[in-house]
Amino acid sequence: MPHKRLFIPGPTEVRSENLAALAQAQIGHRSKEFQALYESVIPKLRRLLGTEGRVFLFTSSSTGVWEAAIRNCVKERVLCCMQGAFSDRWLKVAETNGKQAEPLKVEWGRAITAEQIDRALSAGKYDAITVVHNETATGVMNHLDEIAEVLKKHPHVMFLVDAVSSMAGAEVAVDRYGIDVCLAGLQKAFSLPAGLAVAGVSERALEKARGVENRGYYFDFLEMLKYDERNQTPATPAIPQIFALDAQLDAILAEGIEQRYARHARLAGIVQDWARRHFALFAEKGYESPTVTCVENTRGISVAELNQELGQQYAMISNGYGVLKEKTFRLAHMGDTQEWEIRGLLATIDRILDL
Ligand code: PLP
Repeated sequence: MPHKRLFIPGPTEVRSENLAALAQAQIGHRSKEFQALYESVIPKLRRLLGTEGRVFLFTSSSTGVWEAAIRNCVKERVLCCMQGAFSDRWLKVAETNGKQAEPLKVEWGRAITAEQIDRALSAGKYDAITVVHNETATGVMNHLDEIAEVLKKHPHVMFLVDAVSSMAGAEVAVDRYGIDVCLAGLQKAFSLPAGLAVAGVSERALEKARGVENRGYYFDFLEMLKYDERNQTPATPAIPQIFALDAQLDAILAEGIEQRYARHARLAGIVQDWARRHFALFAEKGYESPTVTCVENTRGISVAELNQELGQQYAMISNGYGVLKEKTFRLAHMGDTQEWEIRGLLATIDRILDL
């Protein structure tokens, strides 16, 4: 089947250089070569995440790190910010791991504010809070800087952040924001294949883990710390993905981290202008995501048919997620996407819909 260029919010398009990096001859995960690879990747990730602290590699998708964050950093109770399909699911992960999870819910399409979080944290006793920085289902990006500021008033609460569809596309500033676990899978703004996730893990999070029982086996932070000391992972990692991550981090740093964020913001602006002109934005004003735009289907088009037509032009977008199917559709402008690609996509949609 011919390849359709992905404009979906993950997996995103992977450049051929990075596909080639995946296909290198394998190395043993206890070898010196692997240690050198690990030693090459981690400092670059630290720069990207804005942290002097630990960055761990997880051979799983982001869901695995949701579970890891809960298992390692929550003794009893966690406050879960809920504002869309993905943030809602993190609460389920907490509950199924036997923790008391309290919701802090807003309507889909709206942001969670620092004031709401402050009020909820002041009213209860929590080990941690879960925040999804960029809700991929609704195209809403929360103001992490404001949330971080208010978290300073609650120093015993672990700040657990899902930056799955923002990391490498927008600033996460782990140390400056005092984030305890900041996680992402690589198949979104990193523009790499699915299968590997990364997380910045603070000293506070490791200290917390020391007092939490039943941290599980595969993603026990303390075990990961032990192996991190020797530039290794506890179990066999997805080595091909780490090769590709190393190559892509070089490309990200060559582009410039700030320049990369600026490109994302510029592409988002183009898509948002187009969406406002022809449809409407689903995200609350002031919280529009720089990596994915959720368009409200005010014209009542068939999104499925639009996508079928786009398929004939070798491109693919995303329908609305879950209950938002056909009510919205999503255009991703993250990762290595360039302006000409986005302009080409929008022109193709214009032609198909006769806009
Ligand atoms: N968090 C967010 C914000 C997401 O968008 C997704 C998936 O799209 C996930 C978590 C779950 O990721 P995965 O299915 O790769 O585990």
